[in-house]
Amino acid sequence: MAVTDHVDLPTFMEGVKKRNAHQPEFVQAVQEVAEDIFDFMQDKEEYHAQQILRRIAEPDRVVSFRVCWEDDNGNVRVQRGWRVQNNNAIGPYKGGIRFHPSVTESVLKFLAFEQTFKNALTGLPMGGGKGGSNFNPKGKSVREIMRFCQSFMTELYRHIGADVDVPAGDIGVGAREIGFMFGQYKRITNNFTGVLTGKGLEWGGSLIRTEATGYGAVYFLANMLATKSEDLNGKTAVISGSGNVATHAAEKIVQLGGKVVTLSDSGGYIYDPDGINQEKIDWVKSHKTHRRGRIEEYVDAFPGASFHAGKTPWGVPCDVALPCATQNELLGDDARLLITNGCKAVSEGANMPTDLDGVHVFKAAKILYAPGKASNAGGVAVSGLEMSQNSERRSWKEEELQQMLKDIMLGIHKSCLAYGDQGGGYVDYVKGANIAGFKKVADAMLAFGVV
Ligand code: NDP
Repeated sequence: MAVTDHVDLPTFMEGVKKRNAHQPEFVQAVQEVAEDIFDFMQDKEEYHAQQILRRIAEPDRVVSFRVCWEDDNGNVRVQRGWRVQNNNAIGPYKGGIRFHPSVTESVLKFLAFEQTFKNALTGLPMGGGKGGSNFNPKGKSVREIMRFCQSFMTELYRHIGADVDVPAGDIGVGAREIGFMFGQYKRITNNFTGVLTGKGLEWGGSLIRTEATGYGAVYFLANMLATKSEDLNGKTAVISGSGNVATHAAEKIVQLGGKVVTLSDSGGYIYDPDGINQEKIDWVKSHKTHRRGRIEEYVDAFPGASFHAGKTPWGVPCDVALPCATQNELLGDDARLLITNGCKAVSEGANMPTDLDGVHVFKAAKILYAPGKASNAGGVAVSGLEMSQNSERRSWKEEELQQMLKDIMLGIHKSCLAYGDQGGGYVDYVKGANIAGFKKVADAMLAFGVV
């Protein structure tokens, strides 16, 4: 007779910590999910018997490889590359590629784990993966970036495929890098196929993919506010980051009548009391993307603003906050400060920007708080739609895609309500997202037996 192993949450987490020593980001992500899932699984014997959570928290595989390239001075440089394929129970692995010096196996394992639930929430058939390198694109020439991307793909190509694993962009990887990687994939395999998303419109990309994550995070925010009969009109928003997600979140807030007063990068944040309107957002997009500039130069272009070196923007009073830079950028004290200053809603554009302490603070205060796996799923959702368009060999119209994005974000919101409604007008969106995402993947895994 089979013996079912009903460990409790602390024992489960002890095991996760032991098996993943020195991987704090991964352990943190598993803990956040496990806190909700243990509750949900209490009366679900099959999930226990089949060790479903234990299996989801163990990647299908982690591929680690060396990436050699030559810089402009002829020096040989050596970086590390990874692809974490976490779970493909509901579709091919799917998740971005990150190029940043802070990338480690732990960071990519946490991102691939989160991605598994996020992708399930979109309702599209996509499993969870993530990849990247500790390569720092800052200060590199375009030729150096091209050579790095080609070398990275020279190894990665053997692990991916349109029905196997479909990477996309993330921090440090935009349309330019996807172009270099797709070019190399095509050269090696002689195969023009939808193996990457975030492609250029001329060669298989989808309309609104660039905007989708930021726009989606604001649609989710608007959906949350609507449960309190409120909207974004006249609300003050504090946003961190100044990359793809942050600038498009800012754009959608402005379109919906809100006022954005901050943006940031790893050097600090800018505060613009007059509001960062569309013209200023366009300036930031061009400054960061084409000129590869720093956010502190904003104050030279718009003298009404101030720059705060080495600081995050969470002390600026606001109605709504959108952390859109990176993981663990909003800590417990920041969360307390936001609440003291009257913040009513937080929608995460980045992945796991709030640390566990901060998550507990938001939950205890019962504010509207959306975890990234729910609120930033718009990007991967449109990536999923890009895959469908590639398979069909056609391109859908912008209005169709805009509507699909809105519908998907509304669907995710509904799933969160279904599992996160705590009564008394409080919705625990973290719990809702964790359980809804988990259940879909877990049920598929049950169907496959022990594999
Ligand atoms: P970008 O590379 O376009 O921008 C990243 C921004 O975050 C930059 O402003 C960057 O500043 C800042 N940043 C990066 N690292 C740090 C750090 N350690 N401390 C402070 N600021 C930092 O990336 P994206 O906008 O695409 O991604 C932002 C977040 O959104 C990430 O968490 C990503 O995983 C998540 N996300 C992105 C999706 C997408 O579609 N792009 C989809 C879903 C989630 P600097 O220029 O100084 O480095």
